Amino acid sequence: MDESGNLREILCIGNDITELRKTRDAQLQLLRFQNEMIDTAAIWIDTLDVLGNVTLWNRAAEAISGYTKEEVLGHDRIWEWLYPDPAYREKIFAKAMQILQEHHRVEGFETIIRCKNGELRHISWFSNPILDDSGRSIGSIALGADITAAKQAEEERKTLQEQLVQAQKLESIGRLAGGIAHDFNNKLQAMTGYAEMALVAADGQEPIRSYLVSIQKIVESAGNLTQQLLAFARKQIATPKVLNLNEAISGTLRMLQRLLGENISFQWKPGADLWPIKIDPTQLDQILANLCVNARDAISGVGTIGIETANMPWSDIQPHAKPGVQPGDYVRLSIEDNGTGMDSETLARIFEPFFTTKAMGKGTGLGLAMVYGIVEQNAGWITVESAPEKGTTFHIYFPRSDELPESDRTSMQAAGISSCGKETILFVEDDRLILDIGKAILERYGYDVLALCDAQQAIDLAQSIETPIHLLITDVVMPKMNGKQLSQHIQQIHPNIRSLFISGYTADIIARQGIIDTDVHFLQKPFSVETLAKKVREVLDAPM
Ligand code: ADP
Ligand code: MG
Repeated sequence: MDESGNLREILCIGNDITELRKTRDAQLQLLRFQNEMIDTAAIWIDTLDVLGNVTLWNRAAEAISGYTKEEVLGHDRIWEWLYPDPAYREKIFAKAMQILQEHHRVEGFETIIRCKNGELRHISWFSNPILDDSGRSIGSIALGADITAAKQAEEERKTLQEQLVQAQKLESIGRLAGGIAHDFNNKLQAMTGYAEMALVAADGQEPIRSYLVSIQKIVESAGNLTQQLLAFARKQIATPKVLNLNEAISGTLRMLQRLLGENISFQWKPGADLWPIKIDPTQLDQILANLCVNARDAISGVGTIGIETANMPWSDIQPHAKPGVQPGDYVRLSIEDNGTGMDSETLARIFEPFFTTKAMGKGTGLGLAMVYGIVEQNAGWITVESAPEKGTTFHIYFPRSDELPESDRTSMQAAGISSCGKETILFVEDDRLILDIGKAILERYGYDVLALCDAQQAIDLAQSIETPIHLLITDVVMPKMNGKQLSQHIQQIHPNIRSLFISGYTADIIARQGIIDTDVHFLQKPFSVETLAKKVREVLDAPM
């Protein structure tokens, strides 16, 4: 400016900020890049300030927890939301404070969070403090991996492994028990036979007669024991029939009520339009009786037992089906009691044969072993829910049968028919003892008996004989040729011959291959003189 105030010159001071601009842009870009990276990361990332308020919350954290950035940033309410249980929250918050204040680092620290939708998720955390230049903590950063799926898979593997071990254990005990029971059963058979013949020989003479009758009773109860073992080993001979579970249960309710006494009330809830199942009715009775007696024993004083049936379509079963379960529809039988219930140690062992918590002489420990075997034999499975003082519920699943139920059950008690006869019988049995007794019994009833302990010899004899043979009685399981094959051979030589199969035992496979079918005549060992004679007459008189 001059003295009169006119402008003379301008001084310009210019700052070249090109470089500054560039750096700032670069910084902004880096920041944006970092933010984008944090948000794109598939892992949960969050940061907290020293008080535990959320300062950063990435997209993965939003996706896993269900809480958005807007909901969680700037405060610490997320702690309450993720960990609603105060004691649990306290523990985890303490851990976070250790990271902030004591500069701890954590790796693989696992917590269970409750997501916004109520779901529980397992998270594994990596976390460390954020420090300033002077080494003071100004916050913390946490990376969380959602390990829920892996956790579930691990748990499933564990239960599968436990189930496998349990099944294998029962399988091997079953094989052992079945083997012993089979041989033992044959010996009992022989004892029954000789006792009966001795009774006839004693001709009513006392005290020999009463002694023999006592022997018979003991043998019979021993026979019941071996039957239970055979059932457990899935080696019980079964004659399955297609039936309606509701009808079958209605038919036994009265018997069950008598068995259980007056202090127990029954609740019978039959399911509607129940699908048919295929099972031996005696086996069904064994299941019902055993489960109901156990329920009664668990009830002290007055109580209730519920029996319920229901259709279980595969779509309902599949989500929680055990491995190895055949896909298909099932019918479920449930037996529930409000008795003492069981702890987990008892539960783990109830299906083992001879496991009992009952006093000497009260329990044999064979009831559930038998139920287990029967259910397995019928391609079903059994589950138990129980807790101390909470009662017990057994569920049994039977495969739905695609056949129609038989309404007309053939009545075996063709009354008043004499068991004697004059026909010729070919009797083949590899156990010499049983062969001799059977021959002796049948001869007493008037039959001509050709007794052989070898299938090939029986075929040779059948070929050489001119007169008709009316009946073949054969053991099902024999060393060289099974009963079915033998019967087919003999039938080619004597087309009009009838067959009666006997056995104390058969492997599952043989039963499934159709030897023991609904339409074959079958007699289970041990049998009494009378049942053998009756059965023989029945088979001979049956229409071809
Ligand atoms: P037993 O009845 O001869 O003891 P089981 O094989 O039938 O043998 O049962 C084995 C054990 O399982 C019983 O001793 C009992 O401890 C337990 N148990 C079975 N059913 C029930 C039930 N409904 N309530 C409580 N405990 C049960
Ligand atoms: Mg029992």
